[in-house]
Amino acid sequence: MQKSVSDKGSGYNFRNNITIDWCPGCGDFGIVSAVTQALSAMKMDPQDVVAVSGIGCSGKTPHYLNIAGTHTLHGRAIPYAVGVKLANPNLNVLVMGGDGDLLSIGAGHFVGEGRRNSGVKVLLYNNSVYGLTKGQAAPTLPLGEKVKSLPRPNILGKINPITLAMASGYSFVARAFSSEIKQLSELIQRAIKHEGSAVIEVLQPCPTYNDVNTLDWYRQRVYKLEDDKSWDPVVNSKEEDEAKFDRGYRKSLEWGDHIPIGIFYENNTIPSYTKRLAGVIPDYLKYPPALQDVSDRDGYT
Ligand code: SF4
Repeated sequence: MQKSVSDKGSGYNFRNNITIDWCPGCGDFGIVSAVTQALSAMKMDPQDVVAVSGIGCSGKTPHYLNIAGTHTLHGRAIPYAVGVKLANPNLNVLVMGGDGDLLSIGAGHFVGEGRRNSGVKVLLYNNSVYGLTKGQAAPTLPLGEKVKSLPRPNILGKINPITLAMASGYSFVARAFSSEIKQLSELIQRAIKHEGSAVIEVLQPCPTYNDVNTLDWYRQRVYKLEDDKSWDPVVNSKEEDEAKFDRGYRKSLEWGDHIPIGIFYENNTIPSYTKRLAGVIPDYLKYPPALQDVSDRDGYT
């Protein structure tokens, strides 16, 4: 289903010349670097990739990329991105959103896309606060944690994005750390090559509002799943799914002194939504029939 990657993007600069206005030390810088490195490494034709963001500091990401992009509404980046993907299944569609955006107001869309499996790739920027609006507790901040922007410890429990993504049905689920740019770039490339939808949670410091989960705090704790040579999260047959899903799900619960990063689960046996649509809508994949149909209708010229 994914269009094969040409070498049209060879030598292309995926970072534009717009000045980035994130705070010094923000983990978002590492994510932009990893995205541009991934697209360059794949020699991606810039016309084949689209970035869609929600609201928050992360929402500015498409502004800094030399590709088509849209800065949408709070919590609505996923449905917008799915619309882009369904209109042209050949596009590689990247979603950029924070944990406050995707797991609070956008939580229903996040879960719904897991079962849909349309093929969008979700980069979930996780700094546990709403940075753009002065550091309120976001859905991934643990119960009882007090970051400097809060008057008292958090009284809500946290969502585990990896566990939620797996339970929702995403066929590619991974976690990265914004300072491990090479690994994040490789995960993005692998997610793009994966046919179904993907979630990559990216742990990142917000030095302005989160003084607990700092750069050093993460550096002292993260370790790579791939360093365990017996770790194999890839499912290529239905028979091996139960054991690998169970192992990845249990691993996703690990948090504290040791935090795993890497791929928790990759299932290559689940057909994408576009393939399922092609099974019930004749000629769906003969792009662009949808656009031609619209232009033929009364009122559309
Ligand atoms: Fe980054 Fe936090 Fe500043 Fe937002 S407020 S740009 S997340 S450091």
